[in-house]
Amino acid sequence: MIKQVRANYDAPTIEKEIQKAWIENDAYLKTKALRESGERFYFLDGPPYTTGHIHMGTALNKTIKDIFIRYWRMNGYNVRDQPGFDMHGLPIEVQVEKMVNVPGRVSKDGKPDELGIRSKKEIEDIVGIDNFVNTCMNRALELHASMTEEFKELGVWMDWDHPYQTIRKDYMESAWWTLQRAYERDLLNPSSRVVTWCPRCETALAEAEIEYWDETDPSVMVKFPLADDPSVSLLIWTTTPWTLPSNMMVAAHPDFDYAKIRFSGENGEDTAICLESQAEYVMKKGGFQKFEVLERFKGKDMVGMAYIPPYDIDPKYLKRSEYVYKVVNADYVEKDNTGLVHTAPGFGPDDYDTGKRYGVEPFCPVGEAGRYTEEFPLMEGRKVKTANEDIIKYLKEKGVLFNTEKIKHRYGHCWRCKTPIIYRNTKQWFINVPKVKETMLSEIERAKWVPDWAGSTREKNWVDGARDWCISRQRYWGIPIPVWECKCGERKVIGQIDQLKDGDGYTEGMDIHRPWIDKVTFKCPKCGGTMTRIPDILDVWFDSGVAAWASLGYPAKKDEFDKWWPCRFIVEAHDQTRGWFYSQLGAGTISFDRAPYDEVMMHAWMLDPKGQKMSKSLGNVVEPREVISEFGADALRLYSVRANAPWDDTCFQWDMKKNPPLKEGPKNAWKVLNTYWNVVKFASMYMEIDGFDPEKHPIAEMEKYFRDEDRWMFSRTEKMKRAVTEGLESRELHKAARALEDYILEDLSKWYVKLIRDRSWSEDDASQNDKLASYCTLYYAIMQTAIALAPFTPHLSEEIYQHMGGKKLTVHMEDWPVCDESLIRDDIEHSMSLIQELVETIATERAKMGSKLRWPLKQIFVCGKEAGSNDAVRMFDEVLKQQGNVKDIVYTTADRLPRDKEPTAYSDGQIVIDFDVTPEIEAEGYARELIRRIQQMRKDMKLNVEQYIEIDVSAEEYLTKLFGTWKDYIAGEVRAKTIVFTDAPKGDEVKTWDVTGKDITIGITKL
Ligand SMILES: [Zn+2]
Ligand SMILES: [Zn+2]
Repeated sequence: MIKQVRANYDAPTIEKEIQKAWIENDAYLKTKALRESGERFYFLDGPPYTTGHIHMGTALNKTIKDIFIRYWRMNGYNVRDQPGFDMHGLPIEVQVEKMVNVPGRVSKDGKPDELGIRSKKEIEDIVGIDNFVNTCMNRALELHASMTEEFKELGVWMDWDHPYQTIRKDYMESAWWTLQRAYERDLLNPSSRVVTWCPRCETALAEAEIEYWDETDPSVMVKFPLADDPSVSLLIWTTTPWTLPSNMMVAAHPDFDYAKIRFSGENGEDTAICLESQAEYVMKKGGFQKFEVLERFKGKDMVGMAYIPPYDIDPKYLKRSEYVYKVVNADYVEKDNTGLVHTAPGFGPDDYDTGKRYGVEPFCPVGEAGRYTEEFPLMEGRKVKTANEDIIKYLKEKGVLFNTEKIKHRYGHCWRCKTPIIYRNTKQWFINVPKVKETMLSEIERAKWVPDWAGSTREKNWVDGARDWCISRQRYWGIPIPVWECKCGERKVIGQIDQLKDGDGYTEGMDIHRPWIDKVTFKCPKCGGTMTRIPDILDVWFDSGVAAWASLGYPAKKDEFDKWWPCRFIVEAHDQTRGWFYSQLGAGTISFDRAPYDEVMMHAWMLDPKGQKMSKSLGNVVEPREVISEFGADALRLYSVRANAPWDDTCFQWDMKKNPPLKEGPKNAWKVLNTYWNVVKFASMYMEIDGFDPEKHPIAEMEKYFRDEDRWMFSRTEKMKRAVTEGLESRELHKAARALEDYILEDLSKWYVKLIRDRSWSEDDASQNDKLASYCTLYYAIMQTAIALAPFTPHLSEEIYQHMGGKKLTVHMEDWPVCDESLIRDDIEHSMSLIQELVETIATERAKMGSKLRWPLKQIFVCGKEAGSNDAVRMFDEVLKQQGNVKDIVYTTADRLPRDKEPTAYSDGQIVIDFDVTPEIEAEGYARELIRRIQQMRKDMKLNVEQYIEIDVSAEEYLTKLFGTWKDYIAGEVRAKTIVFTDAPKGDEVKTWDVTGKDITIGITKL
């Protein structure tokens, strides 16, 4: 049964009701069960980090996923829709550090200062790792719960009761298994290297965990006097003075031209070696006015030149070898600054490589917290980045500072705590990615990427340049790296929890997080000693990289794996090229020699209106919740996918009050949905009044009563379905959304509903079938739209589907509406498009002539270009008369067009409009003006469409005479039992109107 929808599209209220009804009806589970025997489709959710809240980007991401899951389900697939959550890692550790108290800590003045953990030492010695990790676990679960609620508010249907979580034991076990595979294939090895390091979090960071922005740092030129002639110096340049204590070499480019140069001027003179081409630049920096080249040499001839370093390092910490404190060669030296590069193998990856080539060991007097160690007693305990000024002061006093200034340059920061990173030489665990790179590249080629360049260019370039993957972190809240080592060098990698049973300290069912796992030890098979776990945990990117099989519980649960593997589709934002697309590719190649996915879709970001990333620090964040409470989740969903191609960034548009109003924005999407709502309101009202039952009037039986405009509507509906399907299949969601929008606004609301208004009104028996034909057409259009909209706007579709008498428990159980080609009529569409064009042409010409739309035109002459052109228009002769408000249409040929009037061109010929106003036309015009005023008053009085009325009208005699001939027509249009012309109109409502300069008073009485 069709029930009238409520008056207003109040999306936030409707959506809450629908979500409640879904829960009460078990709609989600029943919809899933309906497709259980369908072809399996393994969709894998990229796990968002559990921050507790979703942002515009996560909302867009889950919207896209929900659209496809619903679409595939409607196509009969049994879709695996388990949501995932990435729950280990530093962000939660950092939050917990702020929450936890450190009992007994006092500030300098002796007062208690207990809030917040400030170092790893406090975690280990005071708080306890167990306490810390438990707090992280609870925090992660809390954040997971609140985030899930927000996804539900967005209307996303996923298996929220059974998510995969990277902190679960079975999940962690899968990650261990993958690491064991890597070890067995000799892809997992420890190595001493210079890595990017966060001194606050006291851990190594991966390139993907570093954020770059401009920082101001000192830029200094320093003199390193030559050992055999201290009056001459090598001139080096650096922006990290704090690394000077660990200087071991100076690098020159072998092919560049260097020179010994005497600089002189008001402040005296100095002799230094630098790049000859930079002499003038260097001269100015040193405050000199003149320079003179004394000697020239190639960089390659400088190798071995010995110099005196800026700091004397205690020999017990220094490993002397041939090239220590000497010039060496390196290709990365550039032709800028002095052309001589200060080289500290302990603090730079390039420097480290150079040291390796020349047999120079790194000297790294900086500890995990970024403070100098006892190896550099001058500043022991100081934070390195704060030491710059003192180092410069020292260089000045020593007389080796040539120049100092400030520069702004891009500098890396920890993604979590925003602390500037440093480079440190440490022992870390690496996955040898270059060794499996070829397979990874061919897997990129095998998989389908949307858009294509996401794989063929972006991902391929990233993998092409891939280096070893540093997977170890020196923290607590993560998957412990399952490597046990013995002092004798023996090593053991655990791949399954069962294998722990051979160890000491294992208890059945134990938590395998730190610190509990650290208590498990093994007896060394080689020397009989004790093997202990290395303290490191895994890079969180490795956690999510194994999701495709860890979420299936593989290798512990083989049946799930056999049922679903491999994953058919993933979709994430473009930053995942270096993130999840990559980590899965790497982990999949290690484990299965293949990428775990077959299709990767890449989507873009939601930026602020100016095109900047939304961020708390910029204060430009718009929360999905704000939008949902204003316009509803459906409007946000539709807007998100409609604004741009999925892979193009969208600048969020919020302010609709702008002039001219922005075309984009959730409000605009809401307007589209509201237009659809109004169409349904109109339809459901009349259909309910008339007790229309679509099942009693199937299309096949109504066919003989259809008008061509009905056939036009069917044709347009089928084309909409075709376009939406094509958009979904090609993943061009914007095209699918726009096809729906155009159809709703143009075809359905602006045109068809207008054409059938009179038919819905008619009450005489003779036109019953004609009216039913229009109902049947409109009903079909509305239902097909509700079903096609279902993946995009699941709540609105449900509300309308249920009110229009949908037969299924939920609209989401419907099969996807496939385009019925037999209903497509290009000939009819062509004719109708000409009519639409002519109606617009007439309106434009009327405006030019000052002719009111409500006043009929006497006649128009239509003259088509070719034979048949006029027939195409004639097909909708009645529609043209009605919509153009024309009394008569004369179809003619060019030679018979009236000569006294100017013709107007349209795409298929020309027309001539006769603007002559006869007394009959004037009468009709005024009658229509009167009808409009009465309708307005009915509306203001909030009268039901069925309500009968009585009307009193007063106007000058000339007008009442004109109205007289149209009395019956007027009465019929406004549902009046009587119309009385009187000098003193009475009624429940009396109002005087100014109609083209003449006063007309109308009184309406409710009957
Ligand atoms: Zn940090
Ligand atoms: Zn041993």
